[in-house]
Amino acid sequence: MHELSLTQSVIRIVEQEAARQGFATVKTVWLEIGELSSVLPDAMEFCFQAVAAESPVAKGAKLEILRVPGTAWCLDCAQSHPIAQRFDPCPACGGHHLTVTSGEEMRIKEMEVA
Ligand SMILES: [Zn+2]
Repeated sequence: MHELSLTQSVIRIVEQEAARQGFATVKTVWLEIGELSSVLPDAMEFCFQAVAAESPVAKGAKLEILRVPGTAWCLDCAQSHPIAQRFDPCPACGGHHLTVTSGEEMRIKEMEVA
């Protein structure tokens, strides 16, 4: 499962930050997941509980998922538009000269530590 390895890397980042910043446990992790990414929030949540339980730093931590809407820049209209799927045509002109500008990312936005 794709989400399992993603969760493991999230926990690894949390543990590295704990060592770097000197905190012992993390209580909440806010994770941004782009709507255009293939990451399933439900699966992330499920995997997070399992992986966090094995980590002294993240044990019992809560995962809060923030969805980042997809947006793309259209070269034909020279404007930014919301899109639901990565290969959608431009909602304004129907063109396909779009560059995705957000919605593909997955990153830790914030952590509540103790
Ligand atoms: Zn357009």
